[in-house]
Amino acid sequence: MPRDSRYDILFEPVKIGPVTAKNRFFQVPHCNGMGHHNPEGHAAMRGMKAEGGWAVIATEEVEIHPSGDVTPYIEGRLWDDKDIPGHALMCEAVHRHGALAAIELTHNGTSVSNLSSREPAIGPSHQMTNYWPWQARAMDKQDILDYRRWHRDAALRSKKAGFDIVYVYAAHDLSLALHFLQKRRNRRTDEYGGAFENRIRLFRELIEDAKDAIGDTCAVAVRFGVDEKMGADGLLHDGESRDVIAMLAELPDLWDVNVSPWRHDSAVSRFSEEGHQDPFITFVKQLTTKPVVGVGRYTSPDRMVQLIKRGVLDFIGAARPSIADPFLPKKIEEGRPDDIRECIGCNICVSSDMTMSAIRCTQNPTMGEEWRKGWHPEIVPAKQSTDRVLIVGAGPAGLEAARALGQRGYEVHLAEAGTELGGRVSRESKLPGLAAWGRVRDYRLTQLDKLANVEIYRDSMLTAAQIREFGFERVVLATGARWCSDGVGRSHWNPIPGFGGPQVFSPDDIMDGRLPAQGPVVVFDDDHYYMGSVIAERLAMAGLGVTLVTTGDVVASWTSNTLELIPINLQLRRLGIAVVTAHDVVGFDGNAVTLASNYGEPGRVVPARAVVAVTSRLPEEALYQALLAEPEALRDAGVKTVTRIGDCLAPGLIAQAVYGGHRYARELDAPPQGEVSFKRVVWAPANP
Ligand code: ADP
Ligand code: SF4
Repeated sequence: MPRDSRYDILFEPVKIGPVTAKNRFFQVPHCNGMGHHNPEGHAAMRGMKAEGGWAVIATEEVEIHPSGDVTPYIEGRLWDDKDIPGHALMCEAVHRHGALAAIELTHNGTSVSNLSSREPAIGPSHQMTNYWPWQARAMDKQDILDYRRWHRDAALRSKKAGFDIVYVYAAHDLSLALHFLQKRRNRRTDEYGGAFENRIRLFRELIEDAKDAIGDTCAVAVRFGVDEKMGADGLLHDGESRDVIAMLAELPDLWDVNVSPWRHDSAVSRFSEEGHQDPFITFVKQLTTKPVVGVGRYTSPDRMVQLIKRGVLDFIGAARPSIADPFLPKKIEEGRPDDIRECIGCNICVSSDMTMSAIRCTQNPTMGEEWRKGWHPEIVPAKQSTDRVLIVGAGPAGLEAARALGQRGYEVHLAEAGTELGGRVSRESKLPGLAAWGRVRDYRLTQLDKLANVEIYRDSMLTAAQIREFGFERVVLATGARWCSDGVGRSHWNPIPGFGGPQVFSPDDIMDGRLPAQGPVVVFDDDHYYMGSVIAERLAMAGLGVTLVTTGDVVASWTSNTLELIPINLQLRRLGIAVVTAHDVVGFDGNAVTLASNYGEPGRVVPARAVVAVTSRLPEEALYQALLAEPEALRDAGVKTVTRIGDCLAPGLIAQAVYGGHRYARELDAPPQGEVSFKRVVWAPANP
């Protein structure tokens, strides 16, 4: 289909200094947990986005010197010439599809660890490093000259590697250029400290150096965090940041602007809307004639057009929307925007960087698997047999398996016990703040609608006998999991005394609308991800007095990996939810829970007329067991295989359920694999 002419403006070429982007879709820098550990995986992932139509594809932050080493985080590295070939791989992959390759050079200053290099950290003044119990030393004049030389050398190496755009980075509180600009960090009394003109000097010099070194053929871009969202202690979009843009307005070839720190930039959908950065960045274009790119989890082409027409942006920047759908631009261009797999704003992608593992995505199961498994987000191999597949359960695992199997051409029958499709995604998306998670279901239902070879049956609670009666060759159980209400979980191997009566609830009860009749309620969170906090929020919104008790040292500790820890804890306090951390629930008598401290303090009693246990889940595997109990009957029915996928196999993240469904679909009738089903980087002797 031809594209809707309303979107023509998104496909106009835009000049960036000496280079030209073919359209307005710009994949801004984003971390991915592969970086210098796996340049081939990294190149394949970036190349896929170029194939998907993005005009500019950027790296993640790239370290320029051993004293800017962010170990254990796995980012890009360009310390010396040895690192050039790894980056050249990415440039080739991106250029193959007519896109521009951009590199984000940075020295993280006081945010480094130097755990690998063992160099002392450096900063504008003596101060604590951001994340580690050691300090950065104040840079002297020679250090500043050295730093400028490292940056210039890195720019030259970038050009050699084939990059078209080289970034000077001053955002997220993660770069020396920014650290010098920040009043709170820069307490120098020389020409690099004090007055604004002095604090901005180094930033300006870095841009000038880069332009001088490579500006003839490469564009020099700046990434600048215009607001640190910390009041007068930080940069403000309506304060000094205006002066920065005004003073440097025409110096760089492109302004990439956002808010800092990272948790505000990559804010989760639970606490922020699409376009949440717009009010902070709108002023930039008024101060410069250079192209401006910004982000805000934009997935709607209409909104993108508005942003261009209103003069807010020249490029639609995206990290997460490009992860969830590397083919977003192509889909708009080909007149099929309803095929876009919209980011749900869950930040599981971010958690990969935080946990130093290759990137993954809830919506896009192929993200990070482009090189390892050769998976393409839009293309699957054709079916290899005429086997018919029955999938039981239409949660994220069942829906994705049905979608991908349908795309392969198999005859698929998807049976769902309930009237509503989507399983846990539909249920959880009704909890406060999680509506966008419904996109996991919506994308798949839109696709399934287009597949004539997939039949969906609602209101169909299947039994083993019915499954045998159908006699389909392949049976896939995607029946999900249920939350336990007996308290068994991380801290308890046996039920908690008093858990089991009618005053004890599970998250499933709350999601099904079975709320305690009266408070106060204790939510016991032994899970440490989002569910405990969101259930507490739901109960507080229903007017019940809530205390959240957690065995963690902080509420929702795992959400530090998804950048939600602070907003979640702020939200609980805003809603008046009492919080007790580092305590276990050891009993409930209908009127109160008894707590035991992690650190041996005297036991506590908290009044409670009801308890919600957020502790663990059990797979819904009764159907599986029933089918396996009669192997001969299965064989006689013509069933070749019975396979569990998603939460019914092992309860986990929605991302894992989607991945499980996708993997099943890919592997059906595929040649058998070895024990290691993916490529990896292994050491081999140079002279075997
Ligand atoms: P996952 O995350 O693995 O996709 P979910 O819990 O989200 O799992 O979804 C499981 C779905 O399976 C639910 O919608 C549930 O209603 C459905 N289901 C469970 N047992 C049966 C069954 N016997 N027949 C049909 N559907 C079932
Ligand atoms: Fe979006 Fe979640 Fe995918 Fe990240 S993991 S791109 S936030 S859907």
